[in-house]
Amino acid sequence: MERADAAEDARLRSILDLLGDPRRARHALGEALSAHGIHADDPRLAATQQVFARYPDDAALDEATLFEAIRPNARLLERAFLGELVIPDFASFTTELRDIFDETRALEDGEVATYIPQLARVAPGHYGVSACTVDGQRFSAGDSDVDFTAQSCMKPLNYCFALEENGEDEVHRIIGREPSGRGFNELTLNKENRPHNPMINAGAIATCSLIRRGASVADRFDHVMEQWRRLTGGRKAGFSNAVYLSEKDKGDRNYALGYFMKEKRVFPEGTDLLQTLEFYFQCCSIETSCERMALVAATLANGGICPMTGERVLRFSTVRSCLSLMYSCGMYDFSGEFAFTIGLPAKSGVSGGLMVVVPNVLGFCTWSPRLDPLGNSVRGIAFCKELVGRFNFHNYDDLVGSLDAKRDPRRRMLLR
Ligand code: GLU
Repeated sequence: MERADAAEDARLRSILDLLGDPRRARHALGEALSAHGIHADDPRLAATQQVFARYPDDAALDEATLFEAIRPNARLLERAFLGELVIPDFASFTTELRDIFDETRALEDGEVATYIPQLARVAPGHYGVSACTVDGQRFSAGDSDVDFTAQSCMKPLNYCFALEENGEDEVHRIIGREPSGRGFNELTLNKENRPHNPMINAGAIATCSLIRRGASVADRFDHVMEQWRRLTGGRKAGFSNAVYLSEKDKGDRNYALGYFMKEKRVFPEGTDLLQTLEFYFQCCSIETSCERMALVAATLANGGICPMTGERVLRFSTVRSCLSLMYSCGMYDFSGEFAFTIGLPAKSGVSGGLMVVVPNVLGFCTWSPRLDPLGNSVRGIAFCKELVGRFNFHNYDDLVGSLDAKRDPRRRMLLR
């Protein structure tokens, strides 16, 4: 036991040595972590901060107190200092992200969605980007903390919640998993009279019928909000009542899709169609931000474990199914083109949000409300193209024997 304590002390002392002057250690700690993208509001740092909070800012802390402060995060600190985080040179990586952000900000093509007044009124110039790695290293630029409604970006998440609850066989007995090749809200079903996939409206409405179906509408919505909270490491999702009321008011196509599917007996026995549609409109009206959406994307990149809390929110198999369908169906009628050129699972929404996952590395979200004719954010697509132009993030960039000159920012576990 004593030997173990001595080894632990030696380990903590070597971390302290790296922080230099003990009188400045607490500040050096914050600076070092932030250089690696681990920021002060990271929930993992709370225990460390609680120790520091007991002393005035300029107090000289003794070794025992510094040990107490760094002990809960010793592994995280070691990994950061030893270059073991998934993107070891995070500062250089974020310089590139900032550069891509500045470059794509100049784009002013596209139109904001106008099918409801609440979206038509959003200032078109907004632009935000956030990224979060599987180790919780974060970067943000621009309007990354401004709320927008998730719209179709909620579809992959609802699909995950339905999978967790019902399993893959039951969900896909009701909803297909092929791209439709048709508009996202088109009045069409596949040959078996099932919605083509959960990423287009028909499939997303059917997905809603599979989430907590026995519960009250209020409890179903609470459940979804709670899952969003877990996916973002404890941050609360918002809700826009105005967008919800507008969606409901202008939702004729979605009502038509609902009745069409009811006629074709798509929904499970006992489904209340109108309640299901309302639940769908409510989920479209969930408010998020680039910062929070990047955390969701990072949880997906991390196989369902939230990097900020270490909590398993989704099963690995759920995430695998979700990423597969984001890859093939997530970008409206640009899905095939996006898979070809960008090679990453992604989901966009009419409010201009775009959530992208680089599996095992990071998740990111861009938000810019001007859309191209296919309904995807112009700046969001441009950001992805430039990112994948610089780094080998395309799913097939890294094949054996690849001579591609793109850079690889991630830590390599194995030398080839
Ligand atoms: N609320 C929209 C609808 O159902 C979502 C569309 C979208 O983001 O693709 O029509």
